[in-house]
Amino acid sequence: MTISKVWIEEGCTACGLCEDICPEVFKLKDDATVIEGVKYADYEEKIKEAAESCPVEVIRYIE
Ligand code: SF4
Repeated sequence: MTISKVWIEEGCTACGLCEDICPEVFKLKDDATVIEGVKYADYEEKIKEAAESCPVEVIRYIE
């Protein structure tokens, strides 16, 4: 299984944790955003860790 899509649902509190864990994929602007054009498969473990660590559980991904 490889991650093919990553997105963030409404409710992000801009805590910055996902960017701390995986700055290759997550970028904090007003809210967290997912950087386009990244090969998400290269960062699967960190994407999953960010999703599990997000305090409001708004990080989603498709494997
Ligand atoms: S960890 Fe969750 S709440 Fe925090 S910035 Fe990322 S998406 Fe937003």
